[in-house]
Amino acid sequence: MIARVIVDVAAGQTDKLFDYDIPAKLEEMVDPGMRVVVPFGPRKLQGFVMAVESVSDVSGRKEIVELLDPEPVLTQELIELGKWLVEETVCFHITAYQAMLPAAMRGKTSKQVVRNAEAEQLPGSLPEKFHNRTSVAWKDLDSPDLTFVKKALAENLVFIEYKVKDQARAKLVKYIQLSEQATDEKWVGEQIKRAKKQQQIVDFLKKTPEPQIALSTVLQELSITKSVVDALVQKEVVVEKEIEMYRDPFIEAENEQSAALPLTDDQQQLLSQLTTAVSANSQSPFLLRGVTGSGKTEVYLQTIDHVLKEGKEAIVLVPEISLTPQMVERFKARFGQEVAVLHSALSIGEKYDEWRKIHRQEVKVVVGARSAIFAPFQHLGLIIIDEEHESTYKQEDHPRYHARDVAIWRSSYHQCPVLLGSATPSLESYARANKGVYTLLELPKRVNNRPMPAIEVVDMREELREGNRSVLSQALYEKLKERIARNEQSVLFLNRRGFSTFVMCRNCGFTAECPHCDITLTYHRNQNLLKCHYCAHEEEAASTCPECESEHIRFFGTGTQRVEEELQRLLPEARIIRMDVDTTQKKGAHEKLLSSFGAGEADILLGTQMIAKGLDFPNITLAGVLAADTLLKLPDFRAAERTFQLLTQVSGRAGRDKVEGEVVIQSYEPEHYSIQHAKSHDFVSFYYDEMKRRHRALYPPYVFICLITISHPNIAKVIQTAGAIGEALSHHLSNEAMIYGPTPSPIARIKDRYRYQCMIKYRDEPELSRILKDLLNHYKKEITNEDLYIAIDRHPQMFM
Ligand code: ADP
Ligand code: ZN
Ligand code: ZN
Repeated sequence: MIARVIVDVAAGQTDKLFDYDIPAKLEEMVDPGMRVVVPFGPRKLQGFVMAVESVSDVSGRKEIVELLDPEPVLTQELIELGKWLVEETVCFHITAYQAMLPAAMRGKTSKQVVRNAEAEQLPGSLPEKFHNRTSVAWKDLDSPDLTFVKKALAENLVFIEYKVKDQARAKLVKYIQLSEQATDEKWVGEQIKRAKKQQQIVDFLKKTPEPQIALSTVLQELSITKSVVDALVQKEVVVEKEIEMYRDPFIEAENEQSAALPLTDDQQQLLSQLTTAVSANSQSPFLLRGVTGSGKTEVYLQTIDHVLKEGKEAIVLVPEISLTPQMVERFKARFGQEVAVLHSALSIGEKYDEWRKIHRQEVKVVVGARSAIFAPFQHLGLIIIDEEHESTYKQEDHPRYHARDVAIWRSSYHQCPVLLGSATPSLESYARANKGVYTLLELPKRVNNRPMPAIEVVDMREELREGNRSVLSQALYEKLKERIARNEQSVLFLNRRGFSTFVMCRNCGFTAECPHCDITLTYHRNQNLLKCHYCAHEEEAASTCPECESEHIRFFGTGTQRVEEELQRLLPEARIIRMDVDTTQKKGAHEKLLSSFGAGEADILLGTQMIAKGLDFPNITLAGVLAADTLLKLPDFRAAERTFQLLTQVSGRAGRDKVEGEVVIQSYEPEHYSIQHAKSHDFVSFYYDEMKRRHRALYPPYVFICLITISHPNIAKVIQTAGAIGEALSHHLSNEAMIYGPTPSPIARIKDRYRYQCMIKYRDEPELSRILKDLLNHYKKEITNEDLYIAIDRHPQMFM
């Protein structure tokens, strides 16, 4: 028998099937969708078996060295889906298949065949290796054993247990606490004498609510070195120990059960439309436009319930940052152990565990970020994409797929509906719904007719004219004060992009830029460092200008950190929690800050994009947007759409419970239509205004866009290649296609590589996939050997 294999080398030359002989001992085992190890030149590589056949016209075939999976990890469906991804996104087969599997599957796993304790008896022909043992290592099995295992697997008498080697070892964290003797204050005093730093640690440990606290936290909070702690350990005042970190990040707390809520009439009507589609195996996509707080999630939950009752499975996609414990809890409370969660913040081992639950059919619902769309379910009954307009559903690295497109492909394979939900659908989706390609569903009101919050737009130019130079307008300042006095909470939103702090010399105009990327460096105050957000470069912030040596070098812009300080100065009584990339770097920090805000430990939550979504705290009665314009100014045709979406999302945070909410939007361009329509909660008017603009300037959804980015360390090489590509495109595409460029990319250099781009706008180019593939093929040697990079992005979400 022969296996046709895709090998693990992502390159043009190897993007095809290679034939390998299946050794006799594996003959009955190898099936399509399994991973194997095969010799490839001097190396041994992993690969995926795509097909098993009895003939091959390739001579001099080698043998498969090892079979890595006892059961296929790619279903027949996923194998087909991979081929489609290759066409659709112009990627290599290996790239497509690897995107479908958890990262741990790239590492080596060890497998155990474990006897199922519930199985009464193993068949009489039990191989010797299994006598008196509950498990046997896979690699110790030989041919007759394998035949037995295959049968036993089919009858559920044994199962396979995977252990990831190296990748997922338990993590040990150092903790410290006061020793038992340390209750004796006098004794402690004698030990420490007058060592101030040691005293600080003792005081700190006495104050902490939990007896033990992570060493790293202590070092950071007190800015001391480990040697101070060591001294205390030496004197036995402090004890140090290592604690194993918990593997389940969503610690299964009480896991309270929640029952279905009685639905409103609107919700009920949607539910019956959806359940009918599920039962009828209808593959029609639905677009649900429901204002924030209209009860979309409850409709999701009850539709899924129906799916499960029919013995089918459901995938729910949620944007990364909305995948909070709060969100996950809603699903776990309804479906308990039937739910797996796939989140990029999980460790490799955790993700692998969750994936295996799906693969072994132990769960029926998966809630996850983008890549959960590849969950290997075999009886899909529904796919839900919440906040469908989010750009995070598009993968920015190859394979550059959009989860929505994959969802629609899978839904037609499984004959099941797709439900796209959003308060602010993407223009593309809403246009499709308008044309009847998707069925439009609507929840125009909040649950229990709670009013939408009143939105006030403040003209910041006025404020400036009146001499107010602070980040808060008078109106926002007063409303914040009121909230603090009434013990209610507020969220303040700051767009990170365009708002990070940069350094400029007022004397000569010098700005600090990354030496490797054409981008200004961002000032990080607590470390006094300038950092590049595109590469790892960092440098110390100088106190005089490196160009003219003037001392008038200043930090500009308004980073969240600076806003926090200014807020604190304006509102000294306010308790503020800041959430941004800096404060949420540590694992679990995001959840911790949110739950502390939820518990009422702060008055104001100040943050970037990550606070705009999914927050559902009843005590928030005020939402503020500090500068609505920063998004509007991005060099992106979706800037107005993103602004409208963001303002709507932020507004949705306020007044979700009994007390009515208020929103203040500060802007230097308050008359802009995206701000005005957000103010009146009017998606449909925004849609028509924006569609007019897109029509005039020829942007999606009126045309499709394909972006080709070319990069290389040598600028001449980039210009020459980009020029040649532009020419080839105009030669091969139809006359209708419009080709823009080549021009330098908005960020013209990243990590010392120069970047040029060509943009194609088109309506109908059936040959485009093939033309792009030929193009990559043409340059494949230079790509492999000369460090040339050509990125093809169909339907791009980012233009940087
Ligand atoms: P969305 O997902 O549209 O923002 P949610 O489903 O989160 O809305 O609902 C908003 C709030 O209303 C939640 O607190 C939810 O528990 C509540 N809710 C939803 N449906 C109902 C209902 N039928 N009856 C009472 N409360 C509901
Ligand atoms: Zn200067
Ligand atoms: Zn850089």
